[in-house]
Amino acid sequence: IKKIGVLTSGGDAPGMNAAVRAVVRTAIAKGIEVYGIYDGYLGLHEGRIKKLERHNVSDMINRGGTFLGSARFPEFKEESVRHTAIANMRKLDIEALVVVGGDGSYMGAKKMTEMGFPCIGLPGTIDNDIAGTDYTIGFHTALNTVLDAIDRLRDTSSSHNRISIVEIMGRHCGDLTMMAAIGGGAEFTIIPEKGYNEDELVASIVSDVEKGKKHAIIAITEHITNVADLAMVIEKRTHLETRATILGHTQRGGSPCAFDRIMASEMGAFAVELLIQGEAGRCVGIQSNKLTHHDIIDAIENMARPFNQSIYDLTKILS
Ligand code: ADP
Repeated sequence: IKKIGVLTSGGDAPGMNAAVRAVVRTAIAKGIEVYGIYDGYLGLHEGRIKKLERHNVSDMINRGGTFLGSARFPEFKEESVRHTAIANMRKLDIEALVVVGGDGSYMGAKKMTEMGFPCIGLPGTIDNDIAGTDYTIGFHTALNTVLDAIDRLRDTSSSHNRISIVEIMGRHCGDLTMMAAIGGGAEFTIIPEKGYNEDELVASIVSDVEKGKKHAIIAITEHITNVADLAMVIEKRTHLETRATILGHTQRGGSPCAFDRIMASEMGAFAVELLIQGEAGRCVGIQSNKLTHHDIIDAIENMARPFNQSIYDLTKILS
């Protein structure tokens, strides 16, 4: 293999730059040319592709976001659009592509592999919702950001006898919420995997307040309920001031933490090794501290992410 491409796609995540840097430098060290594709599948379709040298990824290891840019490009679901994208790479003799992104991006990579263009996926998302890996690139950085926010909310809510609801990202995955609840000492943890019953939640908060609790932190994943409305209900029932804080996109930004930088570097280098070994249509993961790779189609279609029940149980025991 002589020439490969790399792109970042979908929601950005801290550590994507570290992954791209590792792909670029590992490939160059092995005598392979690397081409950066700008703005994900959108730029691939438009042919915005540039050769990357070692120095193009200097000062990138500590930088949040993705210097290649990312985009949502639903048109990539159309086969004709993907044909053009593949033709753009073949024109430059690019033989394989490394895609850093979430499960949507993996679908694109899977479909190009099925069309005869080999792709390797790296899990880049703060949501930790990808099968075949214990952690995704960006998750630990986002976790630290959420913890910092919870610590700050704890200071002010304990000073004011206030109940704080913190809405945390994760889409359909409660990992970020659960881990942040443990690290931040939240009293209540509401995640998509466990369903939501507002009456039960409010009743247990009321019962805690009646027992003398003066402040509380409720960690809840996005898209479960309207947290501003929930705050009003809780305030009415407990007579304690209740405020909702939506952390939003602050969770996606920031310099990647040590864990994400190192994991992204290892995964990026591993992706190049896999391509050299002739592997294609694989997605890279880290499982029980070992780099692993799985069939990308299998990962999307058949492998379920195991729910971390013991972490969930711990949020209850420690609350
Ligand atoms: P993420 O990769 O973070 O899950 P998205 O779900 O937005 O983010 O997916 C990123 C991009 O991947 C989309 O904008 C689209 O270009 C491409 N994509 C998503 N789903 C598919 C699909 N079923 N087939 C082909 N490409 C897809």
